[in-house]
Amino acid sequence: MSSGDAPARLAALTALDERVARVAFQLSKANASLCPEQRQSAGWSLHAANLYSRELRPLAESRFGLDGDLPGVLAAPPASAAARAGLRPGDLIVEAAGQALTRGSTVREPAYDGFAANVARLDAALASGPVEITIRRGDRVSSFVVGPELACGYDVQLNPSDELNARADGRRLFISTALAGFAQSDDELAVILGHELAHHVLGHREWDDVGGVGRTQNTGREDVSGGAGGKEQQADRVGLYLLARAGYDPGVAAPFWRRFGESNWRVRYPQLEHASAGTRARRLDEVRVEIEAKRAAGEALLP
Ligand SMILES: [Zn+2]
Repeated sequence: MSSGDAPARLAALTALDERVARVAFQLSKANASLCPEQRQSAGWSLHAANLYSRELRPLAESRFGLDGDLPGVLAAPPASAAARAGLRPGDLIVEAAGQALTRGSTVREPAYDGFAANVARLDAALASGPVEITIRRGDRVSSFVVGPELACGYDVQLNPSDELNARADGRRLFISTALAGFAQSDDELAVILGHELAHHVLGHREWDDVGGVGRTQNTGREDVSGGAGGKEQQADRVGLYLLARAGYDPGVAAPFWRRFGESNWRVRYPQLEHASAGTRARRLDEVRVEIEAKRAAGEALLP
């Protein structure tokens, strides 16, 4: 790809990042009580110059004011603690609770460790309550107090890839740009992210959803591939509840997987066995009816 495409690629990547951050945050906040691990969250999505490829890095630095390993605010969803405190995309976090974060080296190749260490320090500070966060916004330095709130204790990461996949490793959830981009609305994105979060809620570790269908990674512990259909069905069911609890429309799930099946599945992954898109959609519609009945009866939306 020529370097002339870089600004467009970065803009597209950023737009997807913001969408994924917004939907993931809403799912995570609304379903905190169901998650096996919780944490005090600012609800922001962070990035750093050192995470970007050599090609995109100079653009990311000039566009977002990023610097080395220092965390920049990529997204601060409207209902998040970060947004309520006054933080916004483009802010560069330089201090937390009076302690300077580390800029690190300005490496040539993408590096994750320094940024991850800064994020770990932010999370540790937030775990004990409101934190004074100092940021650089253009030429100005200012401080805000972020009062965190309970959310699911997992991170969501958007990975640049043409493959249509998502996976969960028990602590983090990964979704490819191709799959996130296939979702045409926040409700559709919540179908995918809700399904992955459901694997987390259900305690399915090391889960790999290729082309929207689960496949276990080799965990070295047990072979659960024989039960993959069962676990996928569970994740679809619980995922739809998580989506509904977060205020998204459970009615989009069945049409979404039908469209996904028609436009992608057989073309890209004909070799894998899977429940047909039609079967999957029919089961999801049954769960939708169940959810609507609970709502009508004023019952709690618990799977
Ligand atoms: Zn799955």
